[in-house]
Order: sequence, then C-alpha cells, then structure tokens
Amino acid sequence: MKRDAVGIQVVEIFESLQGEGYNTGMPAVFLRLGGCNLACPWCDTAHDSFVTLEEDEVVERVAAFACKALIITGGEPLIHAGLGGLLERFKLLSRWIGVETNGLVAPPEPWRRRIDYLAVSPKALYAALYDDERMVRQADEVRIVVDGDVQAFCENMRDRIEAAHYFLSPCDRAGEINVADTVRLLGRLNRGRRSKKWLLSFQTHKLGVFADGMCCINRLFPIYWRRTLNKGVIMRAAYWTCVMAGCLIGAAGLLVAQDLSKLTEAQRKQLNDWMAERAERMIAAHRLEGELNRAPNDPANTSPEIEALRKRYQELQNEMSRVQADLHKKVMALPAMQEKRAKLEQERQQIKELSDKVKVVTDPTP
Ligand code: SF4
Repeated sequence: MKRDAVGIQVVEIFESLQGEGYNTGMPAVFLRLGGCNLACPWCDTAHDSFVTLEEDEVVERVAAFACKALIITGGEPLIHAGLGGLLERFKLLSRWIGVETNGLVAPPEPWRRRIDYLAVSPKALYAALYDDERMVRQADEVRIVVDGDVQAFCENMRDRIEAAHYFLSPCDRAGEINVADTVRLLGRLNRGRRSKKWLLSFQTHKLGVFADGMCCINRLFPIYWRRTLNKGVIMRAAYWTCVMAGCLIGAAGLLVAQDLSKLTEAQRKQLNDWMAERAERMIAAHRLEGELNRAPNDPANTSPEIEALRKRYQELQNEMSRVQADLHKKVMALPAMQEKRAKLEQERQQIKELSDKVKVVTDPTP
C-alpha cells in the first residue's frame, strides 16, 4: 500500500565528515531537518530556512550518495512526525542511521529500534526543561558544550541519561576557545570515578582557524561537495575538518586537494567508492566496539562470544588500516598527484641548493 505523501522540512543534505563526538572523522551523509523546539541564542544553524519535500524525494536524494552512513540532524529532528517513515525507508536501504537531538523528546520505541546511534546534546540554558519525563533517558552518547558553569547540569544529565559515552566540548567565547576551563571541569567531573567518565570532544567543524589557515580537510577533499537544496546543487568546498584524516594525510593533503579538483568524473567516483569502502569498515568496527563496551569489560571474562567479538573487532581494525593505507597509495598514484610530487621534489631540490648557498655565505668557519 502506498503511503500518503508526507512533507518533510529539509534545510540541506550533504556529505561530509562527522565533526564531533565518538564518531569524529566518520564520513557520512548529513540530512538536516528544519525547525527546533528550543531557541538557543548562540544557535548557528539556519533551521528556519528549509524547503518542504516529499518523503520519496528526501529518500531519493540521500540514496544518491554512495556513503552508507546517514546522520539526521537539525534543528531538532525528533519533533518531525515524518521521521518515522524516513527511518523505515532508510533502513530498507541498509543505511547506518545516526540521529542528533537536544534530548528534550525521546524517540518512540519503533523509531529508536531503527536508530543505530543516538547522540544527545542537552542545553544547560534550558536545564529546567530536562526534568520532563518525555526527555531522552538512554542514548549512545551525551555531548554538552561548556558554556559557563555547567558542572551541576553535567552531573544531572549523567544521572538521567544512560549512555555509552559522555563528552564535553569547549566553546568559543569572544574569539577564545575555553579549552582550559573544559579540561578543569573534566577533572572535577571524573574525580574518583571508574565509570561514566566524561571525555573531551572538539567541535572540529567549527575550528575556523583550520578553515582559514594552514590546512582544512574540507578543502582537501572536493568530493565532499555540499549540496544546498534551496539553490540546487552548488559545489562548495566541504567544510569539516577531521583530526583522523588530518593525521593520515598531513601536509601532503594540501597538494592532494589542489589536484583532486582536476579529477575526471570517473576518477572522482572511484575515489568516492574507496572512501565509502573505508567508511563501511569504520562503521562495522564502531558497532563492534560499542558491543564490546556494553559487554562486561572484564579481561577475566573469556566467554566465547566476547572473545569472538574482540577477535572480530581486531580483524576489522587491521582491515581498516589496510584499506586506509591502500587508499592513500591509490590517491598518491593518481597521475595528477604524480605530476605534483615531481614538482614538489624539484622545489625541494631548489630549496636545498639555496640553503647550501646560504650556508656557504653565512658559515663563519674558513
Ligand atoms: S537545540 Fe540546537 S538547533 Fe535548536 S536552537 Fe539550540 S542550538 Fe539551535
């Protein structure tokens, strides 16, 4: 039976890297829905600017991306009555589904079953609202932005929300990121605790210093073109930075970026497939890691199931490293890259010759 057309308020759909929390660095398609049940003064999400699309169209647009991980964000995605239908459709397409919520409204059970990863970001400014019985009480991760004195709020949220991970994120205050305050708070919250410890998470997608300065992965990978629904498909350098990818590609990334833009459609597609392959392994490894974390984490526990999980997790990690290395090799072997490397080698040689000359001139020894 065909379902009635459901209007979904969509702000944008784009492919990028998860910028914060446990899945930082994970490639994913982001579906940002419009509207929110809060009105945080610092909100930088244009959740009021959306187009209303039919469910079929949203599914079609998401399915057009090769990447199998989907993160539904907002605004507040859980206030959308049409989300249930979308979750069902995306599951049929075998998508790994993450949902990001402010946690005021828990997803109904049938929705929750289809969500692979629920990330809750409660807002301390609205602390009083989080006493409501309808709030999220179980999630995969809780993230709180350290904006002012949020210690009591963090403790309350840790008690009220059962999660596998708890993260604190520093925020930008008048141009300064309050990392030191955040680390001090981590110390206070974790003192004497053996479980439910808070960890540090940077909102890497907001680190403008990387975007404007040295090396932003967003600019390195033109395959992460952002698609803005209001204006049709607009190519923009993707806007996320990722510590993991940064470590892997490093300085050579800048050169890769310049040259990837010269790739043909076929090469671009191939590169996308390699990235998707890597993402699949990362997701499988993350899932298993989650299962392991939930299992009794006692090394003495050697039940065959847990041993098998540990082994498979290790295999996936190894496999992921191999794919990662392979991807790097393939990228570096692209003709455009080879040309660039030759040029780089030439420049290095010239610099060496110059510095030898400088040495001769400045060396005081006869
Ligand atoms: S909950 Fe998030 S999307 Fe909603 S107003 Fe606050 S910051 Fe913006």
